[in-house]
Amino acid sequence: MKTTLKTNITVKDICEGFVYNELEGKGLFGLSGKLTIQPEYQRNYIYAEENREDGVIESVLNEYPIGLIYFNKVGKDSFEVLDGQQRITSLGRFITDKFAVKDENGMPQIFGNMAIDKQKKIIETKLLIYECEGTESQIKEWFKTINIAGVPLNNQELLNAVYSGPFVTKAKEEFSNSQNANIQKWSAYVSGSANRQDFLECALYWVSKGNIGDYMSKHRKDKNIDELKKYFNIVIDWVSSVFVDVEAEMRGLDWGRLYETHHRTAYNPDKVSSQVKKLYGDPYVYNKKGIFEYILGGSIDKKLLDIRFFNEAVKRSVYAKQTAKAKKNGKSNCSNCAIGHDANKSKIWNYPDMDADHVAAWSKGGATTAKNCEMLCKTHNRAKGNR
Ligand SMILES: [Zn+2]
Repeated sequence: MKTTLKTNITVKDICEGFVYNELEGKGLFGLSGKLTIQPEYQRNYIYAEENREDGVIESVLNEYPIGLIYFNKVGKDSFEVLDGQQRITSLGRFITDKFAVKDENGMPQIFGNMAIDKQKKIIETKLLIYECEGTESQIKEWFKTINIAGVPLNNQELLNAVYSGPFVTKAKEEFSNSQNANIQKWSAYVSGSANRQDFLECALYWVSKGNIGDYMSKHRKDKNIDELKKYFNIVIDWVSSVFVDVEAEMRGLDWGRLYETHHRTAYNPDKVSSQVKKLYGDPYVYNKKGIFEYILGGSIDKKLLDIRFFNEAVKRSVYAKQTAKAKKNGKSNCSNCAIGHDANKSKIWNYPDMDADHVAAWSKGGATTAKNCEMLCKTHNRAKGNR
């Protein structure tokens, strides 16, 4: 790969013909149209969200370096920004009066209202730019390794860079566009933000059953995202028809896996709704996130709910009582071990090796009091099931 360091390109040159499109996923241009600021494998503009664009302008005004910028030379006189998109977009947005920075008196100032000498200082600032020339794979490998300035790329952003092409472009139009009216609906079930590719990552994860890289590689040249879109919508529609109420804990669950496992089962949404409400109101259910899978699975696997019946004080006092009695009788402090025939029948278990169990089962209305609590060794407790 060939690299050339350019030191004579100014902010003014870069921002010549700057185009900012409010809708994400669209190319932004500069350098009189010769520069694509946001090639398809770059992330969406996120400096504004994180209030970092002021910092770029302040750095320029104070003559602090804003770091190296990398261009990829894609034609005789055309370039793409490999690294520095966010800094360039901040500069372009400022010069076109899209945001203000505070002056020395703390007053917000847009570029157009600044003193001429300050305006000049900004637009005449020279940037440090590396122009790189190489094969697509060289550039992409290298892009993966630079990942330096600004906010580090997350996993999906890197995958978008590595597998860039028509498929990623289409997929981002659908899943990475915060203006998409569906985002709000999806947010009930998917966590994260469209800009940081969390919805795209989730859709890909579901359709690929967790093999995102393989899927992107296979579909890289596809001109449509029909399968991805269809599968994602099927999953979302399924969840919202089974669970008619939206609970905060539904967000971020692996609905793709739950759909695959349970979509052939019929559910009565009214009944499901009352089950959800009951479990939400149960103080012993610690893992609210587990409620949905628990119900889908037929209310059998109580481990999902992380039911914690007895507090530490109750368990310790029951343990002490049981252990003292067992030692006196020369038997195990686990009542199940004590009636067995192996070496464990006289074993005294330590407290951490035991768990609390309901004598009369919780599911059958057994109370959660010291009287109904018995400590069993972990093996026997598990064998009995978390009732
Ligand atoms: Zn035991």
